[in-house]
Amino acid sequence: MVAGYRVGFDDGKGVFSCHAFSCFGSGGKITNFISPFDRFLQNSYLCGFSSWILVNTVKEIISKIRVWLSEDPGAVAVIPHSNPDGDAIGSAYALAVVLKNSGREARVITPNDYPSFLQWLKGEVDILNFLRNRQQAVEYLNSCSLLFCVDFNEAGRAGDMEGYIASFGGKKVLVDHHPSPTGFCDLEVSEPTYSSTAELVFDLVTALGLGSCIDKRAAEALYTGIMTDTGSFSYSTSRPQMYHVLASLTAHHLDTDQIHARVYDNFSAERFRLMGYCLLNKMVVLPGYRTAYIAVGREELKSFGYAPGDTEGFVNLPLSIAGIVFSAFFMEKDSLVKVSFRSRGSFPANAFSSAHFNGGGHLNAAGGELRLSLGETIEYFRELLPRYLPMLENTGG
Ligand code: 5GP
Ligand code: MN
Repeated sequence: MVAGYRVGFDDGKGVFSCHAFSCFGSGGKITNFISPFDRFLQNSYLCGFSSWILVNTVKEIISKIRVWLSEDPGAVAVIPHSNPDGDAIGSAYALAVVLKNSGREARVITPNDYPSFLQWLKGEVDILNFLRNRQQAVEYLNSCSLLFCVDFNEAGRAGDMEGYIASFGGKKVLVDHHPSPTGFCDLEVSEPTYSSTAELVFDLVTALGLGSCIDKRAAEALYTGIMTDTGSFSYSTSRPQMYHVLASLTAHHLDTDQIHARVYDNFSAERFRLMGYCLLNKMVVLPGYRTAYIAVGREELKSFGYAPGDTEGFVNLPLSIAGIVFSAFFMEKDSLVKVSFRSRGSFPANAFSSAHFNGGGHLNAAGGELRLSLGETIEYFRELLPRYLPMLENTGG
């Protein structure tokens, strides 16, 4: 890990980062001071000029990444989190394509399988699957001097790749929009107000002077990331800058109808039968706690020919019931139960998940896992609810 500074506070980990906003430097540390010129650039962005707004990320971080990119022409790896979703794959793929277009060798290494509805994102750069072809992935990683970790804030989210990230010999850069990154990279581009990591990748590559390397394929991938992380532009969409990014992306003559259809109209019939089964037979509504949950077992999944990605979005469904502000989806896996949480208003799904389910995420969208049986997990979940009743009643959702 390189020597560095944590802006606003220094936790001694030696990570360049910036989670608190400070205006003036002290003791020679890099701070988040925004000069009148930068302020002008930020404002001019809103007026339609090409610029960027990375509120948390100081210029020194951008400069450092720029230096790392220019001083070492070696290969670059981009790693999304395990069980990658549209934002993780879209961000990683787009970043790798941009780097390749800038003259670098760049590949994505995904920790495990990614859903079939994202597999049209391929072709321009290789996507290595660590789970399926570990040797090739490790060989490539060993040849790299720079590593980007995208769309996750703690090393454990990289699954089996966690140890390989920890022991990576080159420089590591985090690009992420989850709150509270844990400092496992040398530099952190961490912007929790962003809709998606894809939106952040757009601003980052623009800030790095690589905006012209965003081609149509990269733009499609970034559009996919924003679209999927906002539930097709239905939440996390109140930051106006996101629409400027979307405007720049769609200017690449994107067929946005087709992108939407590729992602959302590409499921198997079994997925819809599984969804119907879950809603009819498995959804439990607890109006007193403004909570609903769905729990599905391994054998049930098998009987519907489960494939990765088939349960994507199920956790959101109960939130459309009037009065429900907290929703959970439990899925039995081999030796654990994977949990997804969604909430409305101020109820902190991420804090709930990190406190009780070894997880984390965003305020209104989080996940975790527990090494209990499915039945024990549900019991545990239900026992927790009374404690959260005042918050659930007053969440404002
Ligand atoms: P999903 O429910 O769609 O799998 O994930 C929702 C959010 O929670 C995402 O932002 C994701 O990164 C986060 N998340 C999901 N599972 C985990 C987990 O096991 N640990 C942590 N820390 N975050 C998770
Ligand atoms: Mn994301």
